[in-house]
Amino acid sequence: MAQEDIFYDVLIVGGGHAGAQLAITLRQMGFAGSVAIVGAEHVPPYERPPLSKEYLSGAKSFERILIRPESFWGERNVAMILGERVMSVDPGKKRIVTASGRSMGYGSLVWAAGGSPRRLACAGSDASNIHVVRNLADVDAIAAALPQVTHVTIVGGGYIGLEAAAVMRKMDKAVTLLEVGPRLLGRVTGEALSAFVDEFHRAKGVDVRTATGLASFETQDGRVVAAVLDNGQRIATDMVIAGIGIVPEVGALQDAGASVANGVMVDACCRTSLPDIFAIGDCAASPNPWADGAHIRVESVQNANDQAKIVANLLMDVDKPVDAMPWFWSNQYDLKLQSVGLSMGHDLQLVRGDRATASFSILYLREGRLIAVDTVNRVKDYVQARALVAAGARLDASLAVDPDIALKDVVAAAA
Ligand SMILES: Cc1cc2nc3c(=O)[nH]c(=O)nc-3n(C[C@H](O)[C@H](O)[C@H](O)COP(=O)(O)OP(=O)(O)OC[C@H]3O[C@@H](n4cnc5c(N)ncnc54)[C@H](O)[C@@H]3O)c2cc1C
Repeated sequence: MAQEDIFYDVLIVGGGHAGAQLAITLRQMGFAGSVAIVGAEHVPPYERPPLSKEYLSGAKSFERILIRPESFWGERNVAMILGERVMSVDPGKKRIVTASGRSMGYGSLVWAAGGSPRRLACAGSDASNIHVVRNLADVDAIAAALPQVTHVTIVGGGYIGLEAAAVMRKMDKAVTLLEVGPRLLGRVTGEALSAFVDEFHRAKGVDVRTATGLASFETQDGRVVAAVLDNGQRIATDMVIAGIGIVPEVGALQDAGASVANGVMVDACCRTSLPDIFAIGDCAASPNPWADGAHIRVESVQNANDQAKIVANLLMDVDKPVDAMPWFWSNQYDLKLQSVGLSMGHDLQLVRGDRATASFSILYLREGRLIAVDTVNRVKDYVQARALVAAGARLDASLAVDPDIALKDVVAAAA
């Protein structure tokens, strides 16, 4: 039976990047009402990107990846209700119920529940040495097992799989990386960057297998001992890390009647189809001006933070546009990869700089206008590209490919 109701003016479900940023921004803006974060994890909000980078490698402790020091939340009067999973939402009575039976009322509900890692489904996928990288507990489990591991098989050639591969190679583990698609990073970037990243990981000793599916796992005593590929090959392995994407955490909202299609459907202000219920971050599919207004989910810290600010403005009745230009970063070995804009729909790719020395940028243009840039160890290009992408600048292609001319100086004269 549900315990006694508590009421919060703003009840945030999920203490990740989006949920934490919303509470922080509301207090920064002087919101005087009650605010609570109900989070399924047992720890206060922390940064997720280091999980596959500095936290996995041991370079950063948990304290160093906290979004705010633990004392911050109490000082700002943000109730932190941790280790509680919200199971149901009653939009009529404006109440949620958690797995332990706690019931809470809300004025506004903000769903910021992120996503759960997609699981492998082939035979043997329930083995105990198959890992995912989504939260602190996942990475702690990997770190605890690593001393006994010599060969890691990584499934998935997206950013998380590649970052994990880089850390594993630094630790001198043998690494095989399986990607079912024709190229690495195929979902998020263009061919030129995929080809470079592929070569770079191979040069670091990763056995990269693109266009290669997984048929099954061979197991002994509940543990994977080999991965069997769809071409019949067998790869002996003592740890598997799956980085094959996430499934948005939207079940309770869907059950409550919210419109859902690969994420909770929201409008430009992050309003769901249910009254006084908003959704932000990885779980929300919003109309994105950088994708011609198509409803897409963007999995990035930038998106989580900017959508939190959009909702904070709305709750505070402040009419201030949020510049939600997409940007992203990834660190692999000594590579600093940075992206701005969304490259989907480009009709031209220009490479400036030297791939051989791992210092170059890829410019994505559509009808002559710059829509996105990927940079590798070229921070200056990245910084200048932000303004150019925001302006949809027209570039002089013959100058843009010269890495010695500043990017900001290659804007084409108006026709
Ligand atoms: C390993 C890794 C590396 C990444 N690297 C980068 C990077 O380099 N750059 C970048 O921009 N982005 C990166 N990302 C993506 C980025 O971390 C996410 O886009 C961001 O965390 C999304 O924030 P969020 O608040 O929407 O979701 P999350 O941060 O996932 O937070 C959601 C929270 O909600 C909780 N929750 C779920 N369901 C419920 C429920 N029913 N009740 C209560 N609580 C619930 C979850 O336990 C979780 O704590 C990375 C992600 C991962 C996993």
